[in-house]
Amino acid sequence: MALTEDRVARWSRQLIVPGFGEAAQERLQAARVRVVGADGVSSAALVALVQAGVGRLWLDDPEAVGPADRAGWLFPPASVGSDRAAAARAALAPLSAYVSVDAYPTGGVPDATLVCAPSAAQAMAAAEAARRARIPHVVVEVDGDGGAVISVPPGAPCYACARSAAGGGRPPAAGVAALASLAAVELVQLVATPEVVGAGRRIELVRGMTSVRPTVRLAGCACAEAPAQG
Ligand SMILES: [Zn+2]
Repeated sequence: MALTEDRVARWSRQLIVPGFGEAAQERLQAARVRVVGADGVSSAALVALVQAGVGRLWLDDPEAVGPADRAGWLFPPASVGSDRAAAARAALAPLSAYVSVDAYPTGGVPDATLVCAPSAAQAMAAAEAARRARIPHVVVEVDGDGGAVISVPPGAPCYACARSAAGGGRPPAAGVAALASLAAVELVQLVATPEVVGAGRRIELVRGMTSVRPTVRLAGCACAEAPAQG
């Protein structure tokens, strides 16, 4: 799917980033990305993914907009109480004519998943489903000092191996938009430039400072198994 002239114009700045280019933009344009959790925490990531030119965003969130979601800038006060996926879709639609934003269709198979789930159990379940399907995924882990972003390309140590032992959790703190934006950048790399993505990694954001380290497989974890064929 070649880029049309208007799309080249839309993403002209991104296209001149060294190592990015048209092939990367075309991969983004062709990608279906499932986002698990579309609340105030993931708001910045949703905006970044739309503006980067992901072709189709599937919002997987059955909840209603709550007062805390207003911390993300996506949800206007009047949306509190309404369907969260629908409210996010309404807010994102005007940002790009080239991106479709829909509720996650049951059984839909994405090309990548962003996990921004409201509980540790939901994050584990969503990450494990993506790992089993060999779908690249990024997990956002919020805690009181900031949090972490875990990038899991296919075959890398899984989220269970790389998650915080202390058990990160909500409520979101200052810096959550920065954390979500980092997650969106990681996801764009997994989708657009898979050839330059290395092993899995964990980016910590603690009181505004970032540090990056490769993830390590825990002994005996199921993610060491060779994937089933076919
Ligand atoms: Zn593992």
